[in-house]
Amino acid sequence: MSDAATLPRAEAAVTPVIEAQDLVKTYEVGRGLFSPPGVVRAVSGISLSLAPRRTLAVVGESGSGKSTLGRMLALIEPPTGGHLAIDGVDVTGVDGARLKGLRRSVQMVFQNPYGSLNPRRTIRASLEEPLLVNTDLTPDQRHARAVDMLTRVGLRPEHAERYPHMFSGGQRQRIAIARALMLRPKIIVLDEPVSALDVSVRAQVLNLLADLQQEFDLAYVFVSHDLSVVRHIADEVMVMYLGGVVEQAPKEAIFADPRHPYTKALLSATPVADPGRKRDRIVLTGELPSPFAPPPGCVFHPRCPVAIDRCRVEKPVLAGDGTRLTACHLAP
Ligand code: ATP
Ligand code: SF4
Repeated sequence: MSDAATLPRAEAAVTPVIEAQDLVKTYEVGRGLFSPPGVVRAVSGISLSLAPRRTLAVVGESGSGKSTLGRMLALIEPPTGGHLAIDGVDVTGVDGARLKGLRRSVQMVFQNPYGSLNPRRTIRASLEEPLLVNTDLTPDQRHARAVDMLTRVGLRPEHAERYPHMFSGGQRQRIAIARALMLRPKIIVLDEPVSALDVSVRAQVLNLLADLQQEFDLAYVFVSHDLSVVRHIADEVMVMYLGGVVEQAPKEAIFADPRHPYTKALLSATPVADPGRKRDRIVLTGELPSPFAPPPGCVFHPRCPVAIDRCRVEKPVLAGDGTRLTACHLAP
């Protein structure tokens, strides 16, 4: 199986809303006055397929490429290589009005809701803006949809005339979610959507997201470094390391039987609900290597507690048995 393998899915009969093949994103970065620019490979050869009402969680350390993948899937940044189809349309190389139309199908919610809410505009104006730009709805229809969406995310109609600073962090994230839903997208890319919230509020926002997913048939790409949150919301988990996928599997398989040493280390640092099942902590030494000069062989080998000689020279391919994929020479 190739490095860019796609997991066969039980719900293969359902048409996927995202299909990505071998997605690559590189950035040219200056390295000082006397050095030529270097190329950072933020995402290297990722394939995935996602159906409506399903949630793919993308996890990994800071710098692993999660957000870059999320921005490509949300059509905010074009891939450098590979193919991406959103709702059955190949978006690779598409620009202008056609891309604008496709962007209605996929929206993004960020960690900091201030990113999408203008502090000087009322909530109503922020919610109506996507409709103003992208639809022919009348002012009354726009207003009605804004109020309707506010109530669906657990706020009240009178909140529409207030400003972002008059809300708590959790309420602001609810408003950002409402704004993302205004154009009735099929996909929402959520980049660390609850990381900035108090623990007590996180579960409420995650439950809201789960309800909205059913109500609007949404597919979620959920970018997070927090595996306890992922356990709550994901159907499938993709573990990234230095721009590539090291393991991908249904959530239950990842949490019950992680196979890649990196996944095992991430999970060992996550608190478990049942103290009787406490895991031994695997402490990873060293930092994520520079994406300018990835290590040869398995890119994880300098930090891997079980590396063998082969790992230093031969890159493992992402391969598996149909339900899960792992990139490790020692994987079963
Ligand atoms: P974090 O959780 O900190 O956001 P991440 O896993 O989402 O991390 P990315 O933000 O996707 O990782 O970054 C992946 C790599 O790509 C990093 O090495 C980063 O420095 C680099 N990178 C991302 N965006 C750019 C850019 N616009 N220009 C240059 N390099 C970039
Ligand atoms: Fe560790 Fe080798 Fe597996 Fe890489 S291929 S994760 S270095 S055992």
